[in-house]
Amino acid sequence: MALQRLGHATNLELHEALAADLPELSLTSMHRITARLIERGEIGTVATDARTVVLDARPETHDHFVCTKCGGVVDIEIPDSAINAIQQQLGTHLADAGVVVRGVCAVCRTREGSAQRSS
Ligand SMILES: [Zn+2]
Ligand SMILES: [Zn+2]
Repeated sequence: MALQRLGHATNLELHEALAADLPELSLTSMHRITARLIERGEIGTVATDARTVVLDARPETHDHFVCTKCGGVVDIEIPDSAINAIQQQLGTHLADAGVVVRGVCAVCRTREGSAQRSS
């Protein structure tokens, strides 16, 4: 499945990745298929606060880094000790949903440094 190759992707990205092999596949059916896979627990979603759902090839709970510039998603492994420290301050159990860390990825930082665009 293409999502395995992409790791993390929105329905739109996944649809684009499959378009060459499956030109008949509509974005609507794409949404329907991925919704069923999520329901069955075969794929997961990333808990970003973005409006678009980011699909995850790994169904089990894990932590993510999300780039605030390009929206890129990377799997990260936050040690239990760090999770516990955060949980103590919040009084809630974070491990259930996985932790999302936000920042600017290396690619975007390099791009920023060379282009120097203000936005
Ligand atoms: Zn980025
Ligand atoms: Zn992931």
